[in-house]
Amino acid sequence: MTPATCDRCGADHLVPDGELGTCPTCGRAELQAAEADPEAGQPELVVPFVLDDAAALKAIAAHVREGGWFLSGDTSPATLRKTLRRCWWPQWLVDADLDGVFSLEVGFDYQVKSNKERFDGSSWQTVEEIDTRIRWEPRVGRIRRRLHNVETPALRDHEGWAKRVGPTERSTARPHADADLHGAVVRLPDLPPASAWAEALPALTDAAGALARSGASAEHKRDITLAGRWNDQHWTWLLLPIWTASYADHTGQRWLFVVNGQTGAVTGARPKKVALLWLVWGSLAASGFAASVFGALLTLVSIPLLTVAVGAVLMIVGIFLFVLGLLVGVFACIPLFGGLSWNKAQRAIQPP
Ligand SMILES: [Zn+2]
Repeated sequence: MTPATCDRCGADHLVPDGELGTCPTCGRAELQAAEADPEAGQPELVVPFVLDDAAALKAIAAHVREGGWFLSGDTSPATLRKTLRRCWWPQWLVDADLDGVFSLEVGFDYQVKSNKERFDGSSWQTVEEIDTRIRWEPRVGRIRRRLHNVETPALRDHEGWAKRVGPTERSTARPHADADLHGAVVRLPDLPPASAWAEALPALTDAAGALARSGASAEHKRDITLAGRWNDQHWTWLLLPIWTASYADHTGQRWLFVVNGQTGAVTGARPKKVALLWLVWGSLAASGFAASVFGALLTLVSIPLLTVAVGAVLMIVGIFLFVLGLLVGVFACIPLFGGLSWNKAQRAIQPP
């Protein structure tokens, strides 16, 4: 595989030899060959693809249909297929040795018997009641363990993308094989281990805390604290399955679709043609309001003529035009302004 970078969004990738192609991270530039980063890492586990290329295009087509009328640009499967890429997005898997001490409080249930006086309507009765309470005791211990494959983000925008393409179930993860990477693009981490360590630490501490907690036999556990050294860190990748495809809208601006290769969830902007919105809904609204103004004028003109039959006819026509024009104008504004605010929301889906 060849290292390649995108000059527009700065994302680094590994691409199949001789296949630079469109950037699968922003969809807005061609990838350029780059120097290999010796610290980039290695794959260890992959979550296999459930969707093949045809299923990915079908998921995008459904997402496009949900966008409704007047979409801008050619989002047909035939066009999207040209930029469709099978990608792997990385997450770090950290192994580390913990040498530390932990403290926690363990709780044991015990029962307390008490007598209570209760009035049953005619006389006082003594009733026996049993309460369950918890006796808390401190525990301190030493923990020496190697923790394996604790997951932590490898991309700065991990949270944002995870929200957009939804969660990926990790239970199907398996060791990677060379065939998994064949013909695929691997996005390289932009959070190197030194930066990712701050994010990894809480996850490692939680995993170690769960171990310490599971070692203490008690009904209840609380207030666990852990202090120690993490040695011999080893960083590898968990690769998540993603399809991407991009297209240009009628102004030439490019947009990216990203499909979760496991669930088929799609994210991607589908802007509408603003000129077409104004042409159809804008002109309908303008005609409606013009007709209503004409109707109002006709009604005013008809008032002095009410003594003759034509005056009544003019008034009826005037009121009819006024009401109908107003209704058409107002109802045409709904899809017009709806479409304009839709476009605003689409731009937020993909950062510029
Ligand atoms: Zn890019």
